[in-house]
Amino acid sequence: MKTYANDPRQIAAKFNSKCSKCKKVLLKGQQIFYWPSDKSVLCFDCGQDDYNAFLSSKQDEAFYNGEFY
Ligand SMILES: [Zn+2]
Repeated sequence: MKTYANDPRQIAAKFNSKCSKCKKVLLKGQQIFYWPSDKSVLCFDCGQDDYNAFLSSKQDEAFYNGEFY
């Protein structure tokens, strides 16, 4: 699958921050989701649905482009 600079990704937080949605404190080293397009970070609970939706739309796109294996 292709990756793009603006793709959301699951990362370990590099510093303490707050979830953009629920304002929960995210500690350094915690698994979070990062959206480069709007520089938002989401906690695992808030981010996983959006991230899964992103992944499935990405797979659909790859499928239509004949890149699905
Ligand atoms: Zn949250």
